Amino acid sequence: MLLRDIPNGQQRQPIFMSINRPYIGRFAPTPSGPLHQGSLVAALASYLDAHHHRGKWLLRMEDLDPPREDRAASELIPQQLLAHGLKWHGAMTYQSHNHRRYQETLAQLKGKNLLFPCTCSRKMLAAQAGLHQGDCHSLDPDQPTATARPHAWRLPVSDEVWWCEDRVYGHYGHNLMNAVGDPVLKRKDGPYAYQLAVVVDDHDAGINQVVRGLDLLDNTPRQLYLMACLDYEPPQYLHLPLMLNPAGQKLSKQNKARALDLSTPLQNLLSALRFLQQPLPPAELSEHTQQILDWAIRHWRVAAIPPHRAGVM
Ligand code: GLU
Repeated sequence: MLLRDIPNGQQRQPIFMSINRPYIGRFAPTPSGPLHQGSLVAALASYLDAHHHRGKWLLRMEDLDPPREDRAASELIPQQLLAHGLKWHGAMTYQSHNHRRYQETLAQLKGKNLLFPCTCSRKMLAAQAGLHQGDCHSLDPDQPTATARPHAWRLPVSDEVWWCEDRVYGHYGHNLMNAVGDPVLKRKDGPYAYQLAVVVDDHDAGINQVVRGLDLLDNTPRQLYLMACLDYEPPQYLHLPLMLNPAGQKLSKQNKARALDLSTPLQNLLSALRFLQQPLPPAELSEHTQQILDWAIRHWRVAAIPPHRAGVM
């Protein structure tokens, strides 16, 4: 039997609480390509929110899946940030250096009966909208037959609603079993999954504020569930509207979003502030990136961020 019971008190996040711990935030890009204007919005918002609360802003490279990544991008991203005056605290960290910790966490979950091997193919899951809903929970991970074939490792989710209180979008949640199914924590083809790595790394770095794009809001309930399984304290969340290209698609490398133009950092910053509907500095305080950032830190207003889902750049 797999344990599905998480103590009741941990199922819910409290309604927005004031920030009473020293703030630790982060920017965590996947180096699938250079940063574009949409990624600058996420980097800038997380930086401003951290500095406005006199907190720390860390940088973590989410390089879990080398074949899908671009080595040049992991080198370029920190340079792009610095060209916009966005300096992080301490040393940048890399998920590719943290495999031992992810493996330990899987062992910890296995010890709690919260990890099971899964040999289901996409084709098999297609019949249930791609959702894994306990299909191979009966496999005993310690039986060699269960792990003889290539397998992923999954977390069994509970049949209940998990929600977060987002600082921009408010109350958001869904029934894990019906909306997302049992998440993969280690993929059949080898890499550790984003869901596992993000939870472990945020916890280990003491991150208590997560500011990121709205495309990740629907990942949040399952991440909170995983945190509860590991007895981690959840951070607070602030998701940001997504920047769309004129064709209405999210700016992304797949949609061929242009890399940030490093010859126009001032304009890039101002345009990101405009997108977030933040007050803009006067012209005489817009001559250097540091002036813009200092002004924007002082005038940072979460309440001004438009809670629509997306906006055109
Ligand atoms: N690595 C993710 C991305 O680049 C962000 C993950 C997160 O902020 O939780 O979209």
